[in-house]
Amino acid sequence: MKSQDVRAKFLSFFEEKQHSIVPSAPMVLKDDPTLMFVNAGMAPFKEYFLGNAEPKNKRITDTQKCLRVSGKHNDLEEVGYDTYHHTLFEMLGNWSFGDYFKEEAIAWAWELLTDVFGIDKDMLYVSVFEGNKEDGLDMDTEAFDIWKKYISEDRILTGDKKDNFWEMGDQGPCGPCSEIHVDIRSAEEKAKVPGKDLVNQDHPQVVEIWNLVFMQYNRKANGSLESLPNKHIDTGMGFERLCMVLQGVQSNYDTDVFTPIIKEIETITNKTYRKDEKVDVAIRVIADHVRAVAFSIADGQLPSNTGAGYVIRRILRRAVRYGFTFLDKKEPFIYRLVDVLDKKMGKAFPELKAQKQLVENVIKEEEQSFLRTLDQGLVLLNRIVEETKGDTVSGAKAFELYDTYGFPIDLTALILSEKDLKLDEAGFNEELQKQKNRSRAASETSTEDWTILIEDEDEEFIGYDALQVNVKLTRYRKV
Ligand code: ATP
Ligand code: MG
Ligand code: MG
Ligand code: MG
Repeated sequence: MKSQDVRAKFLSFFEEKQHSIVPSAPMVLKDDPTLMFVNAGMAPFKEYFLGNAEPKNKRITDTQKCLRVSGKHNDLEEVGYDTYHHTLFEMLGNWSFGDYFKEEAIAWAWELLTDVFGIDKDMLYVSVFEGNKEDGLDMDTEAFDIWKKYISEDRILTGDKKDNFWEMGDQGPCGPCSEIHVDIRSAEEKAKVPGKDLVNQDHPQVVEIWNLVFMQYNRKANGSLESLPNKHIDTGMGFERLCMVLQGVQSNYDTDVFTPIIKEIETITNKTYRKDEKVDVAIRVIADHVRAVAFSIADGQLPSNTGAGYVIRRILRRAVRYGFTFLDKKEPFIYRLVDVLDKKMGKAFPELKAQKQLVENVIKEEEQSFLRTLDQGLVLLNRIVEETKGDTVSGAKAFELYDTYGFPIDLTALILSEKDLKLDEAGFNEELQKQKNRSRAASETSTEDWTILIEDEDEEFIGYDALQVNVKLTRYRKV
């Protein structure tokens, strides 16, 4: 089944059950101080859950573009290295705002997966919340009893707060959940280790595909839970993972969501996917990141030096760096992938088609300017290497390269290791700390009627090159 048919089938299944199909909301949130990007299908509906707004229809279905690169849900580190985490992915969802609850949500999920999509029941495992003392919550026996009607008891697992209690962020609507996992291993592998031992163990062939969240609480700023005025259903299924299962392949990157992009990367770079692991990681990183960056721009978030724009810039730079280092691409090429992406997704997401030219131009310009930085940095790094006596490059020199020229520190480390040199990491971190202290001191003095807001006081991990200093994340606000 082609990916566009998978998407269409999901939506029409719930439409037949009286859900209204709505388009994906933009990925970038402008007015939510607790969240930078939509990281789950429920984020755009937050106000409905809280009871602050009323939906036209109490049942909705959609595919929502989600981005997990910052905050509570950050998968960036995995991307390129595993087969099933992306930065941007589509989350297929069905929603009940104070309408149906667990009984229907479970019954329909089961019907869709096993009857409509024809997934073998013996490939599936489900989980329910075991309860949590700290929050005063009991085990979700209600969900357990409903699941028993469909699946044998030994395939129903219990999970803790980490896996079976869904929260969007540190605050906001939340609740216990039931997850559905698929075991796509061969019969031979299955005979060796039972699938249930591999659920939630980061096994690439025993993966979670669908999360049914029973939304009934709101986590307040002080950490306590309060009951929501109504009970809701929020489900999220990873579209690319579902395609992997239905297309009988072992990696999301082997589905038709990604293969045309990977093919284009192979053509442009003259490299072959599946011959060398380092090249493969680079190809996957680029195939993934171009989607995140293209859709962010299409949604109105351009790369910049602050906030959400800065996160997008770092993602694009991560892609450029992998291309530069492992695919030998010293000139812009990622922008050339937008065309394929548009052919694949432009119909389902018309915002990409509408903004295609802008998206291409912005990516090209960003690539160009970062490649110049990399070029200049390399010249300087070579000079530093020549001047280095012994086998270690000083932290201060590496910091200068990083701070003055924006040369990523992990790239410095990589190049040095290729030349059998070491980097004085402790020295580098010391310089970094000194600079942080300087910028902190600077931020305490307000100038006239402008005050400086330091975002992300404790820097957030957004990739290996993201040992970012506060000053780069500084945003000014008029007071
Ligand atoms: P995982 O445990 O695999 O990281 P999750 O529990 O963090 O997934 P949820 O927050 O429950 O995921 O999101 C609902 C669904 O979205 C998941 O069941 C999965 O199919 C999909 N999903 C989550 N994160 C990603 C990602 N980074 N890339 C692709 N799909 C994802
Ligand atoms: Mg996760
Ligand atoms: Mg999970
Ligand atoms: Mg989950």
